[in-house]
Amino acid sequence: MDIKKKKKICILGSTGSIGTQTLQVIEEHPDLFEAYVLTAHSQADLLITQAKKYRPSAVVIADESRYEYVREALADEPIQVYAGADALCQVVQMEPVDVVLTALVGFAGLRPTLSAIEAGKPIALANKETLVVAGELVTRKCMEYRVPILPVDSEHSAIFQSLMGEQSPIEKIILTASGGPFRTFTPSQLKDVTPAMALKHPNWDMGAKITIDSASMMNKGFEVIEARWLFDVEPAQIQVVVHPQSIVHSAVQFQDGAVKAQLGAPDMRVPIQLALSYPERLESTFPRIDWWDMKDLTFERPDLNKFRCLQMAYEAIRMGGNAACIVNAANEVVNLAFRQERCPFLEMANIIEQTLQKMAHQENLNLDDYLACDAEARQVADSFIRRL
Ligand code: NDP
Ligand code: MG
Repeated sequence: MDIKKKKKICILGSTGSIGTQTLQVIEEHPDLFEAYVLTAHSQADLLITQAKKYRPSAVVIADESRYEYVREALADEPIQVYAGADALCQVVQMEPVDVVLTALVGFAGLRPTLSAIEAGKPIALANKETLVVAGELVTRKCMEYRVPILPVDSEHSAIFQSLMGEQSPIEKIILTASGGPFRTFTPSQLKDVTPAMALKHPNWDMGAKITIDSASMMNKGFEVIEARWLFDVEPAQIQVVVHPQSIVHSAVQFQDGAVKAQLGAPDMRVPIQLALSYPERLESTFPRIDWWDMKDLTFERPDLNKFRCLQMAYEAIRMGGNAACIVNAANEVVNLAFRQERCPFLEMANIIEQTLQKMAHQENLNLDDYLACDAEARQVADSFIRRL
């Protein structure tokens, strides 16, 4: 990395779990990194506080109703204030931006990510939903504009790190999963789980949506799809292995049978920092593994009958076209409905499956097709919830 020039970072979703940890990484290396653009959806006060502290060139509040409030609060600062979803697509293209870190949640990440790619900006990708929904289109655009995607998701960062220095083909990816809070639950126990129970993840402190996805293992299903696109492998080459301690972050097996893994204490700042500093590694004060404190490292087969969302993700890749877009949209609807106690835990998988069955299959989608498919799938999923 050119140490004379600070990397100017646009953080989409700076008020979230990944966004705030990205700001911590920037703070650790003020000589190397600069928060150039910060964006939020609804947390206007936190965005204002961040803007006053990190002094970016621009901020975006995606929720337009909060625009005046943010603008007035930052009136005395040399910071441009924008609002709305279209503004996200514009700020990522600002000329000085060196890298766009996508830490916003859900389908909302697709348009700004594509816009950043079209401006030739490297992507540090946390927003996995973008690859789940439109992996084919996004990877094609990345080739066309010669834009790298650096994974922030801990498993994909581990795979990426295991591939560093390797030229040989991948035989298999070993994608580890903590198994979430309900790993040992029986199907009848799963029937009655509450949002509060699901929001307590054993190893990671994350945003609400991904925490629920982890409890249903939809998150691991999405990570299978994410790995398929990031590393250009067939679904059959991706083996999910439940590893409750979350120390082995994932691994790659090569054709001679050798397996390379990346290990570490569960801390998202490590993959965030590497995505920003690659190809270099920087110093950090983040926690280290205490080997004497390490008890068992265990590995189990995932129960696909219990965690049907994981199975459905494999099915969506097999179907191709708009299938994963439908699964993602239905999942966003049921995930929110579960958190609002409008949908029982086990109904989430049923509704995603019914939505996938009801929608027409479509191939070769462009951005408008994905937008239309997402909107329709949300309506269909919502109608199933209202019938519960
Ligand atoms: P959070 O819910 O904590 O944060 C989401 C961020 O996105 C917030 O800044 C939020 O703004 C913003 N946002 C939400 N909706 C919109 C929208 N419609 N338009 C624009 N911005 C929006 O999520 P996480 O940080 O946990 O996750 C972010 C992404 O990273 C997800 O895709 C997740 O799957 C992925 N990821 C997260 C990990 C983690 O440890 N948290 C690990 C691996 C991947 P506001 O808060 O102001 O409303
Ligand atoms: Mg992950």
